[in-house]
Amino acid sequence: MSWQEELAAELKTFLRAEQFILNAPMSEHTTFKIGGAADLLIFPSTTDEVISIFKLTSERGLDCTILGNGSNVLVLDGGIRGVVMKFNGEFSTIKRDGRRLIAGAGAKLKDVSEFAADNGLSGLEFAIGIPGSIGGAIFMNAGAYGGEMKNVVSVVRAVSRDGRMVELRGNELDLGYRRSVFQSNGHAICEVELELDEGDVALIRSAMDDFTQRRQSKQPLEYPSAGSTFKRPKGHFAGTLIDQTGLKGLRVGGAMVSEKHAGFVVNAGGATAADVLKLIEEVKRRVFETYAVKLSPEVRIIGEE
Ligand SMILES: Cc1cc2nc3c(=O)[nH]c(=O)nc-3n(C[C@H](O)[C@H](O)[C@H](O)COP(=O)(O)OP(=O)(O)OC[C@H]3O[C@@H](n4cnc5c(N)ncnc54)[C@H](O)[C@@H]3O)c2cc1C
Repeated sequence: MSWQEELAAELKTFLRAEQFILNAPMSEHTTFKIGGAADLLIFPSTTDEVISIFKLTSERGLDCTILGNGSNVLVLDGGIRGVVMKFNGEFSTIKRDGRRLIAGAGAKLKDVSEFAADNGLSGLEFAIGIPGSIGGAIFMNAGAYGGEMKNVVSVVRAVSRDGRMVELRGNELDLGYRRSVFQSNGHAICEVELELDEGDVALIRSAMDDFTQRRQSKQPLEYPSAGSTFKRPKGHFAGTLIDQTGLKGLRVGGAMVSEKHAGFVVNAGGATAADVLKLIEEVKRRVFETYAVKLSPEVRIIGEE
């Protein structure tokens, strides 16, 4: 019996069969539609399950990678060794308590934003078009159109790698530009509490419609991607630098710098992670040659080549 089959037998004692997949192609679980197989992909649905999965993987010395909706990752072509815990679909209840919303880490940001609007709560309009989970949005401190998660989050409940439940708030979250404390502590974010303002439903909806329209007209949403490929370098916009270097449409295999928005590398058809990595390096090299500005990826690169 392989270690995967052994672990699967243990998982069956507390998970439903549809909560885990052996040798799961990550191209089916990322918005880039790229990536080799994860040895074992698990969809936890409760905090207790997360604690048990951390315990089982640490006892066996297995890596445990955490994913949300897979909208900010490039999984390499060799796939991911060990276990991947994906917060998506399951673990996604959204509740209201006055001006507070409490969401499971797997809740889609879009659904939380819609829920807030339906309840006349303002502050999360900016998030309507960000295709991540709320857990991934906290991990990345996702933001758009002048808003960011930092402005609306009050408490994050998470599980540490040694299986403790922790509650973090305020400065403890260390939220900055595409940064949070979870990028260094490795905790699994399980529940997020937001504090919003009472607002006018019509105004909230009109802001959301405006953001959606701006996104549709500027972003290459017709192609699989992981959103903006590069972080915003100080004093510049990555997309503008790439555009002015003349790189729109540049291709390596199936990976292409979008013609519509130079800040996006898209999967124009059959791209491998190796194609994307080569293209990223080429864009970095040419932008540096032209503007002496160093670009660094916003997209998180995970797995084996
Ligand atoms: C078309 C498009 C448009 C986008 N527009 C924007 C935008 O406007 N603004 C913006 O900020 N981003 C944008 N993104 C990027 C992406 O949607 C965000 O970064 C989002 O917050 C990622 O969430 P996710 O659930 O998909 O995380 P994933 O991509 O699954 O994971 C990202 C990182 O978060 C970690 N993580 C995820 N969930 C958890 C958890 N529960 N506990 C601990 N760690 C976790 C993962 O380990 C990984 O390192 C866009 C992406 C696309 C494809």
